[in-house]
Amino acid sequence: MNYATIKEVDIANGTGVRVSLFVSGCTHRCPECFNEVAWDFHYGNEFTEDTIAYIIDKLSPNHIQGLSLLGGEPMEKSNQRGLLPLLQKFHEIYPEKSVWCYTGYVLEDLLENGRAHCEVTDELLSYIDILVDGPFILAQKDIRLKFRGSTNQRIIDMKQTRENHHVVLWKNQ
Ligand code: SF4
Repeated sequence: MNYATIKEVDIANGTGVRVSLFVSGCTHRCPECFNEVAWDFHYGNEFTEDTIAYIIDKLSPNHIQGLSLLGGEPMEKSNQRGLLPLLQKFHEIYPEKSVWCYTGYVLEDLLENGRAHCEVTDELLSYIDILVDGPFILAQKDIRLKFRGSTNQRIIDMKQTRENHHVVLWKNQ
């Protein structure tokens, strides 16, 4: 997996102050995508053990609320496989911090038999607290929306969704 950028201080992509990782590679090609350069899976830098150690270190201050995953498309299968070791380590070291993930897929694509489901998806999803799902749709763009670009996108509370066995939206939106 490659990644485009790491933002060490991000207040736009989830609650509080967060560390954000923008991975490379996306097949959705939404019109007026905010990050078109990251469609290329080879864009940016290789994601290595050192990158994971760097991110884990940047997450350590108390004022950092958690990690946000964006793209590109974190939920492309190859990126899911690349992200799993990071989330495993994050979960082990920072169980009190949260993971937000932005995907152009919908949650149903990521569940068993979905088009973006692979052998690591279930474990990966188990580490995610908030999933902002769905492609950016220009016709449904609304700049008043918080933490999402278009009205079709959902901010899903994954813990509540797992417990209730149906999609539960985040109550603070
Ligand atoms: S899913 Fe995100 S990165 Fe991919 S094309 Fe759409 S807006 Fe761009």
